[in-house]
Amino acid sequence: MKNFLLAITLAFSCYASTLMANNNAVIAIDIGHTLKNHGSTSARGVGEFHFNKTIATQLQAKLKEQGYPNTLLINPEGKKIRLKERTQFAHKHKADVFISIHHDSMQLQFLKRWRYQGKEYLHGERFKGYSLFISQQTQHKKENLQLANAIADSMLESRFVPTLHHAMPIKGENRKLLDKTKGIYAFPELAVLRTARMPAILVECGIIVNKDEEVLLSNKEYQKRISDAIAIGIMKFLEEQ
Ligand SMILES: [Zn+2]
Repeated sequence: MKNFLLAITLAFSCYASTLMANNNAVIAIDIGHTLKNHGSTSARGVGEFHFNKTIATQLQAKLKEQGYPNTLLINPEGKKIRLKERTQFAHKHKADVFISIHHDSMQLQFLKRWRYQGKEYLHGERFKGYSLFISQQTQHKKENLQLANAIADSMLESRFVPTLHHAMPIKGENRKLLDKTKGIYAFPELAVLRTARMPAILVECGIIVNKDEEVLLSNKEYQKRISDAIAIGIMKFLEEQ
């Protein structure tokens, strides 16, 4: 009888530790843009989609490794997909959180022509850094800000610096800065943020039209630091819920 009870206790504690190690939260990671419509073009002619896919894939791997097996990639093949289908996918899979991964550019007035490997591209060196966009017009207004704060704290801890150029009072920018030390902006018009039915954020990991930042954003160790920082922020947010 004593052995039986011991076996039951052991079985239960194993079960409890499995539960702790395998968090049930569903995390949906959206890879910004598609293979064909790849978003911005880097200073050296690489499509934004490729940068987004690298970070999103690493982020998924990190979260799975950290005990979040239900971490899903949206549209990993980069097929044609409507913006609202991205959040519909997340909703269908009962996602607790939606993260859209992007890489940034800047307005044409800040870009210059240059040649790289015999081809002409546009580059701009005036700004560099990450940005976080959320909506404060959804039912998850409070959680969106908590999520942004958790990711920003982790990015700052990993010594990444935000860019503030999206708040410039010019055409195409003029976004409301919610926190200038953390690089958190309100951008409720973004379709994925507007249609998400769960806490959601769009992360601009860095500026790929900036020649120096593109070199960093193409570096494996730097990419790992970014995806790890985002993963830590997401986990912190989920633990707070
Ligand atoms: Zn983008």
